[in-house]
Amino acid sequence: MSHHLPRTRAARPALRRGADRVQFGLDPARAITVEGLTDLASAALMRLDGTTSRADAVRLCPELGSVLDALAARGALDDETPAPTLSDHRRRRHAPDIAALALTRESTRDAERAFARRQRSLVAVRGNDRTAALVAVGLAAAGIGTVALEGPDRTTALADLTPVGPYEPDVSWRDAVAESVRRQGAHPVALSARVRRPTVTLVCAAADVDLPWCDPELTDDLLADDVVHLPVAVAAESALVGPLVVPGVTACLWCLDRRSCDRDAAWPALADQLRLRHAVTLAQGMATASAAAAVAVAQVLAVVDGGAPPVTSTAQVALRAPDHLAEVLPVTRHPVCGCGWGDSTRTIGA
Ligand SMILES: [Zn+2]
Repeated sequence: MSHHLPRTRAARPALRRGADRVQFGLDPARAITVEGLTDLASAALMRLDGTTSRADAVRLCPELGSVLDALAARGALDDETPAPTLSDHRRRRHAPDIAALALTRESTRDAERAFARRQRSLVAVRGNDRTAALVAVGLAAAGIGTVALEGPDRTTALADLTPVGPYEPDVSWRDAVAESVRRQGAHPVALSARVRRPTVTLVCAAADVDLPWCDPELTDDLLADDVVHLPVAVAAESALVGPLVVPGVTACLWCLDRRSCDRDAAWPALADQLRLRHAVTLAQGMATASAAAAVAVAQVLAVVDGGAPPVTSTAQVALRAPDHLAEVLPVTRHPVCGCGWGDSTRTIGA
């Protein structure tokens, strides 16, 4: 093995369990314990901080060679050289994110490759409420490289100020959020024909009503253009994130609309009236908007990072005051909705 300056990985410290035992990390699912160590070897393992070369450590304590090889093989040590996929600036800027990713990857190199995929991704945010601002800046902060701000711009009011921007009234909402996105190291763009298709479009467009509802009409173009989208609706102190609509594959917002019609024959008339309302003040608690934005960003990261489909591909995540604990509400396609009639083999993240 070639760890010239071996060190323990972030969040997996060497912890002494006894005279001859050293444990790496706390989580029982991935902690590694080395037993039968001499005093010299256990002392050396406790000092794996990247300041002593492997050669020097093994010269002082020959038994360490095989121990370091075994630890490296099990992913307990940091890589000697970083992957060339990220710039040094990017690596330092997002070190906590990469270290977090590394806990579930084989190596820091793997984590950096996963993070580089986020950097290459384009995610769109549709809407201009406070939730949209929190989502857009949250995506950028989590490493999404390009954030497209969709929908009409408007002049900010005092009520638009959030902890991540806009920071002042009477400015362009889109310019202010774009600046916050840029400060997080991402590229803000306006969606146009020249911009490539987003991996996911988040639809942050809650209606002016006391339950979270996203108008399916706002996603018709996304369905038609085969764009994966995720509604994020915040109303007062409750929120619904999802479902993640993969056109032709998962349930769409018209499927939900059909279910609402099944439960209440008057629903179409109610929905039409909601569409005509223009909110003077949109009721959105900041804690609720922040919690919903965090869940939405996490769902997008699950799509971008790959692996198992996120929970919203078959459900909505509901959050409600006062605790905002996530409740999973399963969603299935409605047999009458036309969204599943095409025979698609598309998969999430494709
Ligand atoms: Zn549908």
